[in-house]
Amino acid sequence: MKPLKTMYKADLSAADQCVMCGMCQPHCPTYRTEQTETESPRGRLSVILGLAQSQLQADSSIITHLNHCTGCGACEAMCPSRVPFMQLIDNCKQLLPRKNLVLNVILQLVRQPGRYGILRSLLKNRQLGYLLRLCRLLPGDSKYLQKTIQLSPGKLPLADFYAASGDTQGNVGLFIGCITQLFDKTTLQDSLLLLTRSGYNVHILRQQVCCGALHQHNGDIDTARLLLKQNQQLFESAALDAVIFTATGCGAQLASHLKSINAVDIMQFIRQSALLTKLELQPLTAKVLVHEPCSQRNQLKLPAITDLICQIPGLTINNMIENQFCCGGGGINMLTVANSANKLRTHKLTDIESRLPDTVVTTNYGCALHLASGTQSLDLNKEIEFCHPVSLLVRSASLK
Ligand code: SF4
Ligand code: SF4
Repeated sequence: MKPLKTMYKADLSAADQCVMCGMCQPHCPTYRTEQTETESPRGRLSVILGLAQSQLQADSSIITHLNHCTGCGACEAMCPSRVPFMQLIDNCKQLLPRKNLVLNVILQLVRQPGRYGILRSLLKNRQLGYLLRLCRLLPGDSKYLQKTIQLSPGKLPLADFYAASGDTQGNVGLFIGCITQLFDKTTLQDSLLLLTRSGYNVHILRQQVCCGALHQHNGDIDTARLLLKQNQQLFESAALDAVIFTATGCGAQLASHLKSINAVDIMQFIRQSALLTKLELQPLTAKVLVHEPCSQRNQLKLPAITDLICQIPGLTINNMIENQFCCGGGGINMLTVANSANKLRTHKLTDIESRLPDTVVTTNYGCALHLASGTQSLDLNKEIEFCHPVSLLVRSASLK
């Protein structure tokens, strides 16, 4: 292991900004479920400092407490001392051993688009999933995650260019991500429809790569930087008005690290365009439950999802219980620290079970996957749809 003391010196003063006031504690999802200092932001900061100053050894229990952090950013968003918690924990993880085989394989596969086919086969293959569960390399209930992935639509043929309908307002790029382009194709298709209807030409640049968020939050910061740089060079050279993202997890990574490419959330883009005045929104009769991802609220600081979908007549809209708390779907915690991730999801599943919505909407595919696979494990007499809110807009406007 790299010497923590020297490697981590630059972050010590940032961690020292923590005045141990504890104001972050009630906002932390893992502290809320465990009620222990080691599962809280303040406790994790103490551990990071202890490791950096060689007062603590990075044993497995310490690493587990750090890994339980979902990276939701709730602590950082409300910290009066502006402690850059996310940067500190990412940098600390860089110095810790990464022993989880599944995590390491996924981090390798999402590095290069040429490997996405292997990733899709691995995540969809039932026999392999069964074998990995048998060897305890995947958690038992990952079968529900696999089932959810298997239900996702097949291969999406994406063109390189989609022309604006009507007068052209400009040119945007669409960020298609890694997991998103494999399993959340409906969101990409619906976003394309809305963007072109807004009067924008949409360019899908083939050389784009994963945003690097998974690498960043799992301590592979060199790879994250490399991926960010590749995307930056590509999108900068294309002279676009904006790069539109559909998953707020990817968007938070792009927007916080690549200021030069104007990364914009699809919902925000729609809010700022005149599109809704042009669409004839027809009533949809559905009970909708809204899940607000942490990346949308804490990192991107975007308005609530409801302010757009409330313009669709006929919907009954409710916010999911405790929307201010992470659902546990951050990163791939659902695979690597499943017990903790599932505990954080419990309240949300109870809410889904009691309200029985027709549709759950969220702007981050990772959250949708985590919640949908949890819902598969419930004995509900109802099929519940999980989708991005853009799909409701497209449906209401009869765009397809
Ligand atoms: S991280 Fe911020 S909010 Fe939390 S204990 Fe430290 S200073 Fe207080
Ligand atoms: S990022 Fe979220 S889970 Fe991690 S310590 Fe902060 S509040 Fe807790």
